[in-house]
Amino acid sequence: MKQLLILTILVLLSLPLVAGEWTQYYFRFELLDKSELQNLTRIVSIDNVKGNWVYAYANDSEWAEFRKLGYNTQILPDPASLYPHKTNGSVNEVKAWDSYPTYDAYVSMMNGFASDYPGLCQIINVGTTANGRAILVAKISDNVATEEKEPEVLLTSTMHGDETTGWMLMLRLIDTLLSQYGTDPRLTNIVNSMELYIGPNTNPDGTYYGGNNTVSNARRYNANGVDLNRNYPNYDGSLNQGAIQPETQAMMDFANAHSFVFGANYHGGAEVVNYPWDYTYTRHPDDAWFLSSSLVYASNAQANGPSGYFTGISSNGVTNGADWYSIAGGRQDWMNYTRNGREVTIECSNTKMPAASTMPNYWNYNYEAMLSYLELALDGVHGTVVDAWGNPLAATISISGHDNTYSMVETDATHGDFYRYLQPGTYTLTVTTPGYDPQNVQVTVTAGQMTPITVVFGEIDQPQEISLNAGWNLISLNVVPASYATEDIFQGISGLIQIKNAAYSHMPSMAAHFNTLGNLAVNEGYWVNMSAPATLSVDGNPVDASATPISLKAGWNLVSYLPATAKATATALASISPYLQQVDYLGSSPATMEPGKGYWVKVSQACTLTYPE
Ligand SMILES: [Zn+2]
Repeated sequence: MKQLLILTILVLLSLPLVAGEWTQYYFRFELLDKSELQNLTRIVSIDNVKGNWVYAYANDSEWAEFRKLGYNTQILPDPASLYPHKTNGSVNEVKAWDSYPTYDAYVSMMNGFASDYPGLCQIINVGTTANGRAILVAKISDNVATEEKEPEVLLTSTMHGDETTGWMLMLRLIDTLLSQYGTDPRLTNIVNSMELYIGPNTNPDGTYYGGNNTVSNARRYNANGVDLNRNYPNYDGSLNQGAIQPETQAMMDFANAHSFVFGANYHGGAEVVNYPWDYTYTRHPDDAWFLSSSLVYASNAQANGPSGYFTGISSNGVTNGADWYSIAGGRQDWMNYTRNGREVTIECSNTKMPAASTMPNYWNYNYEAMLSYLELALDGVHGTVVDAWGNPLAATISISGHDNTYSMVETDATHGDFYRYLQPGTYTLTVTTPGYDPQNVQVTVTAGQMTPITVVFGEIDQPQEISLNAGWNLISLNVVPASYATEDIFQGISGLIQIKNAAYSHMPSMAAHFNTLGNLAVNEGYWVNMSAPATLSVDGNPVDASATPISLKAGWNLVSYLPATAKATATALASISPYLQQVDYLGSSPATMEPGKGYWVKVSQACTLTYPE
């Protein structure tokens, strides 16, 4: 008890004088039975469990609640107070990677990445913390300004503000990827083949709790005294604790605006790769893949680290999250069950906040592990789902007898691309998209290889071919094109002088604002003036003629001909025979009507023309 009292005083004395609105308690206690964890995890923020010893954090109200339980508790020194933490305001000196940056140096280092490598790096401010600091994420990719058909990968760190090793690893990883691009083939391949987002510090208020110029008073929680890794909505949408914090909302909004298919979130205080789920002992459908990919990281960290590195929680360096200790409201679970991602938690140093001088060592321990892990995002099934014209489709991809709601993946609507990481084997993917029957596609996944597939929905029959003579033609479409835009339909047709109907015109030689005929329609005919003969070929599904009525006004109408085959004029126009006065095609009255041609039709009153099939 006396020891507890002395340590408590020490802890209180170490608090910053300026921002001490709440106390951070770090302590340990012994369980009688591990089942007690289920209740405890909702009262305090459990940080580690070693045997029956539980290491945990609490703010004032959590501490008051916990004390009622009567555990014999040992207050521990603040993790941020264990080692001297050299903080440096010079970006150049921080790039020796043996000092922690001040907040201003951190922000200018991040912005410097984008200004030094504008073609490879953008800095995104994804949101503002409770105390007004920026949550910065670097996007790294070739053609960084363009969203390409590449997997979106997210690495983040230090949502617990006093777990700083991952923060420094992320900064140095960004710097290395950018500075070695074009020189190191592995790094170049990573930058070329994915859209990599790296958020080095997602809780800067915690890290800089003692002010912008020191990390010495770093805290686990955010400025409001909330553990951000207990602050995400649960799988059923419920909240584990009070309001969603600004840092949490910013990361959720950012993730919701992207399709992150692969990633890791770095922590400290242990050395282990923790894979889903954290809240339930039920296994993720891709448990085997999570295990094998986590082992890729851990085995490389063990091979490059000192003896015992990545063995503190398990000898192979990986653990199922709930098996270690279950938490609710965690970021990893949210990213995986709400966003169908593949995110793991990487605890990269037993010491939460090691001396800055040891950061180069941690870089050496983790460098190969980080690269090998990132390269796994390039394996697995890389699919594209498109319609018959190549337009990307929103689709859901699931594996019957394997997946559940939380493991199926979706395409990114921008390019229709999806990524499915699987253990080697043969699988039947069921691809579902609105408006089509689902398709089953068999894929074989091989270790260390990418399996590309394209899934096409719908079919295009023979394209409609329309012969154009030099001079004036009357034409119409009887297929539904991928694009109705006049320029798209006439793309590649040289010799077009003008296309027009009764009201609108398009002339390639004219400035854009004179071209009022932006789109063609299947229910109209068009005048086309050509300087030379050509064949207009239009890809598209046939128009359902009998289901496409055409409204006519009294007098002359320039109409399309929709049936797939030629018909006698009287047969084709039977639906308007009571009102039909005259039919004209280039100055004469046609006996038959043919696909591809447009016709002037004169009727005595407004009526509806419906062609037979
Ligand atoms: Zn943590």
